[in-house]
Amino acid sequence: MAIDRVLSADSGGMQEDSFNFSLRPQTLDEVIGQDTVKEKLSIAIQAAQQRNEPLEHILFYGPPGLGKTTLANVVANEMNAAIKVSSGPALTKQGDVMGLLSNVGTGDILFIDEVHRLSAPVEEFIYPAMEDFKVDFTVDSGMHAKTINFPLKQFTLIGATTRAGLLSSPLRSRFGMLFHMEFYNPEQLLQIIIRSAGLLGLDNDEESLKLIASRSRGTPRIANRLLKRVRDYAQVKGQGKLSIDIVERALKMEQIDHMGLDELDRAFLRALINVYDGGPAGIEAIAATLGEERDTLEDVVEPYLLQRGLVRRTKRGREVTRAAYDHLHLEYSREETTSNQQSMFD
Ligand code: ADP
Repeated sequence: MAIDRVLSADSGGMQEDSFNFSLRPQTLDEVIGQDTVKEKLSIAIQAAQQRNEPLEHILFYGPPGLGKTTLANVVANEMNAAIKVSSGPALTKQGDVMGLLSNVGTGDILFIDEVHRLSAPVEEFIYPAMEDFKVDFTVDSGMHAKTINFPLKQFTLIGATTRAGLLSSPLRSRFGMLFHMEFYNPEQLLQIIIRSAGLLGLDNDEESLKLIASRSRGTPRIANRLLKRVRDYAQVKGQGKLSIDIVERALKMEQIDHMGLDELDRAFLRALINVYDGGPAGIEAIAATLGEERDTLEDVVEPYLLQRGLVRRTKRGREVTRAAYDHLHLEYSREETTSNQQSMFD
């Protein structure tokens, strides 16, 4: 059975969406962190505006909750452009894409989340739209089938994906700008939480907010979610006042430990240690042991464990490091292996 978690990959339903929506930065200046991405975007936006041209197609890639959707909306806002939003799994037929594309105006943004999940026929249909702003649309079928060449307005496609490596190379090569989203450091997360606390009308107890920031797995979506959990807890148990004690208790209830790991993160480490003697083990095997989707482990769980040096990826599979044993207070009983290491990012 999948472990329920506050840190899940998706945005968590309508309520969460409207909550996140209200906390979303609207302009590049309001976006905290991701300085390299912001600088490159700012130059591209100014250059396009000076030439009076639409922006090139953009791909944002990185773990969930780091601000890909936020940035897509910010880009639209900065370009004074309308944005249409869809996602890879929602665009099942050419007609679905056609419906969207025939309605985009010059310079408008089409945002496709989970762009790696477009089906092959839809992907191929999109290539000429991205390259030459036209599509070949087939109407009817069988002997009556006709292909109509349909010109489009010059639009900007913004795609988001958890891993650029999941995209087919023809699709990837059609994006003019590719931006990798980084985990946020505690100072940046603190700024995000201070901003969110202000928008939610919470008192600005910096020490408490700092503690939430340090437990947020480098991820703004998690920071905002934990803030919400802590706000509830403070309301019921602490007369609405934040304090270190209240934050500690609220996070303990959510099973978030001092590194920000939750039950699924720890289950991943424990499975590697207890079932696979610390590894190496293949991701499919670990997924089967935990009863979790492989994608969830690869997109949501692993990136942060890799970044914190608790897990490493080798040619033969995943291995825990000594730091993982220490974190779980388990005795370390393996010989260090440093061979066969391979880049953990694609
Ligand atoms: P993704 O599309 O990468 O999954 P989102 O753009 O939905 O992530 O971000 C999740 C939430 O985190 C947003 O609702 C927003 O409130 C917050 N957020 C993300 N990035 C930032 C940022 N750089 N500054 C402030 N808040 C952010």
